[in-house]
Amino acid sequence: MKDTNAIAETIRKRTENARKTYGFQDSHNPQLPADYWFQQSLEGPTLFVVFYSQSCRWAECLGCNLPSVMSQHHVGFAPIMKQIDFIFDFLLTSQQKQDLKKIIISNNGSILDEETFSTTALMYFLARMNIECPNVSVLTMESRAEYVDWEELAVLSRALKEGRTPTRLELAIGFEAFDDILRNDHFHKGLSLATFESMAEKVAQHGFHLKAYFMVKPVPELSEEDAVQDVINGIEYLSRIADQYNLTINMHLNPTYVARGTKLAEAFERGNYTPPLLESVRKAVLAAEGRKISIFVGLHDEGLAVPGGSFIREGDEELVKLLECFNQTQDFRLLAG
Ligand code: SF4
Repeated sequence: MKDTNAIAETIRKRTENARKTYGFQDSHNPQLPADYWFQQSLEGPTLFVVFYSQSCRWAECLGCNLPSVMSQHHVGFAPIMKQIDFIFDFLLTSQQKQDLKKIIISNNGSILDEETFSTTALMYFLARMNIECPNVSVLTMESRAEYVDWEELAVLSRALKEGRTPTRLELAIGFEAFDDILRNDHFHKGLSLATFESMAEKVAQHGFHLKAYFMVKPVPELSEEDAVQDVINGIEYLSRIADQYNLTINMHLNPTYVARGTKLAEAFERGNYTPPLLESVRKAVLAAEGRKISIFVGLHDEGLAVPGGSFIREGDEELVKLLECFNQTQDFRLLAG
């Protein structure tokens, strides 16, 4: 384990370098998760948990303020285990435990970065999930690619198969924009196609599934049309990778909201950025019809947007319902218009 003060200092410096002005939630009760919600995925009832831990060490992605609900300082395994107890002892009813088909675990950064999220706590989560939620068929873990340790994942995957329903591991990676220049020079994702492809190959070899997070209009430089085209290019690319490695891939498509305390918020305030139209999201999703990937549209801004910075506007209610229904069915006729 590295010096935890040094990691806190790295987070502070990188946040400052990225001209982010948000603070951290150091006063949050470390025995409670940062957030959780229920959603309907293709697999069925799904729980999304955001554990409260030390924040993402990368910190630089242009429009991201997810670290602002995390701690700048280390959170040990004991309080994180209490967060897990909260999920299984207080949050989930007996019926929900039986009904859940999928759980997504996140710490708004990298669950597989052992410097910011305890391995002991991760193993404890798996053990409790195996006992308490016997029908979960997919467990998703969010992480940056550089923290993926294949030997660790092989052990975790073996443990997941010991539950009453064998649970498959899905690795979730932030991709955000397909175009290299947009992704790395403008958004500062720090992810090359070569890194993604080598990871996809290993995910396939281990029999895991892959989720790739994409954003619609993640940077101010994109017009509405170019934003749709970038997602369409991403859909074609992921379909090729799915074919090449015979891999199950889900594109998790997030329309961008204006996250407070970021450079995107500065652009928004100067009038140089507007969030994407939900209609553009619909158009982009339609490009996946007949392709080898599934799509989930994220419609939740986690309360992190500036006022007026959401992608949901008055009059969007019907389309929101259709997109929610699409998430559960992958029925493109709902969106054909
Ligand atoms: S998008 Fe993910 S990797 Fe990038 S700063 Fe935010 S939490 Fe970290």
